[in-house]
Amino acid sequence: MFTPINPATGEAGTPIPALTDDALEARLARAAETFVRWRTSRLDERTALLAAIADRFERDKRRLAEIAVREMGKTLKTATAEVEKCAAAFRHYAQAGPSMLESRRFETPMGPATARWLPLGPVLAIMPWNFPYWQVVRFAAPTIMAGNVGLLKHASLTQGVGAAIEETIRAAGAPDGLFQNLAIPSSRVDALIPDDRIAAVTLTGSEGAGIKVAEAAGRQLKKVVLELGGSDPFIVMPSADLDAAAKAAVAARIQNTGQSCICAKRMIVHTDVYDAFMERFEAGMRAVRAGDPMADETDMGPLSSEEQRQTVLDQLAQIREAGGRLLFGGEALPGPGAFMSAGILVDVPPASAAAQEELFGPIAMVFRARDLDAAIALANNVPFGLGSSVWTNDPDERERFERDIAAGMTAVNRMLSSTPEAPFGGIKKSGHGRELGPYGLHEFMNLKTVFG
Ligand code: NAP
Repeated sequence: MFTPINPATGEAGTPIPALTDDALEARLARAAETFVRWRTSRLDERTALLAAIADRFERDKRRLAEIAVREMGKTLKTATAEVEKCAAAFRHYAQAGPSMLESRRFETPMGPATARWLPLGPVLAIMPWNFPYWQVVRFAAPTIMAGNVGLLKHASLTQGVGAAIEETIRAAGAPDGLFQNLAIPSSRVDALIPDDRIAAVTLTGSEGAGIKVAEAAGRQLKKVVLELGGSDPFIVMPSADLDAAAKAAVAARIQNTGQSCICAKRMIVHTDVYDAFMERFEAGMRAVRAGDPMADETDMGPLSSEEQRQTVLDQLAQIREAGGRLLFGGEALPGPGAFMSAGILVDVPPASAAAQEELFGPIAMVFRARDLDAAIALANNVPFGLGSSVWTNDPDERERFERDIAAGMTAVNRMLSSTPEAPFGGIKKSGHGRELGPYGLHEFMNLKTVFG
């Protein structure tokens, strides 16, 4: 049984029963049966379905957004924007998907060869609560376009969202079994991965879950895509527009109450503009309004749960023990709900164990860099390599950042965000493989070479 707790109020919602073993078996069987038909479906049938699903998400956005707000505490305005972005992703694959699946011809000494994209089978997606619609749709839209079928194991916190996604896709006319939600806890995933009806696995979540899922998939030699944590650097150089950089730094740190894999978590500021940047950044962080996620004027809702807030408070205590200094904020707010204030940490020893972890809450660590090389070294001095944001108007510095920052993504003079058209993913302990764009579609396909 899953019992949702509204993190803004601490109140329990209606419990959601977990699937029995028999019901889980029935869903797996249905996925396998549906794949037999869907793998040979015409591309225009797939694109028409994707367009219809996009319409449904758009039409039901308020209702869908409210479920996410209740289950994990994000603000209604960001939840609504998230559902709109999902509609855009379905539309993107409906429009651009067919061209991504075009065959390619090669000339070989043995005559012509053709590489064509074929679906792989049912794909199991294990997803987190932080962007409970968007993370799932990044997987669901290309899955449908590819001719695969999807099985979702959503986070325990966001089971209502998982059910709502299945229902929305079905209501748009998807065949029974094309996209099914499996209401099961993570303890039942290990036994599921070896099932022959599951062709591949994708996980978005923490490093720990990534290791477990990759081990289980590896034992079966099943392909796995891992979208894991990050501790993204946000680098500010002297030529940057400091007003724009400071404004983006605040937004990038407090988005989703600091609970985004691509939140800017470590601000690395050139010493020549350190004070000027800090003045602006501090003012912005102090002005962040935490409160009722349903209210329009709220910048930040609660953390997703009391446990998540306690994890962040424990990490802050460890960072301070290692020498970090909290300038302000980073405190649990009184009253019901898992609220905390935005804050800034300075003097954090970069190599300390606590500074090497992902800080999944609205507190920025700020570091001073004496030059470009020092900034890049600091940026790369964590086990993660997901995103990065760099602020410079010098073309040579830009080239160095693009080439030398060890990350899957670098945004220049802007806050990093995901978009359906461009590939998304990381390196190092941020995982491997890509989502979105044509690369995300191709991850779970068989690129068959046909000779002759
Ligand atoms: P999490 O605890 O790893 O959970 C993610 C999903 O994995 C949930 O469905 C969870 O199920 C499941 N899970 C946990 N342990 C598992 C195990 N041993 N075997 C199989 N499944 C397991 O992560 P989270 O707290 O929900 O999400 C936050 C993390 O996700 C952060 O590290 C964040 O950076 C990362 N993230 C990465 C990206 C990206 O694109 N790179 C995007 C968003 C978030 P239960 O809830 O039932 O335990």
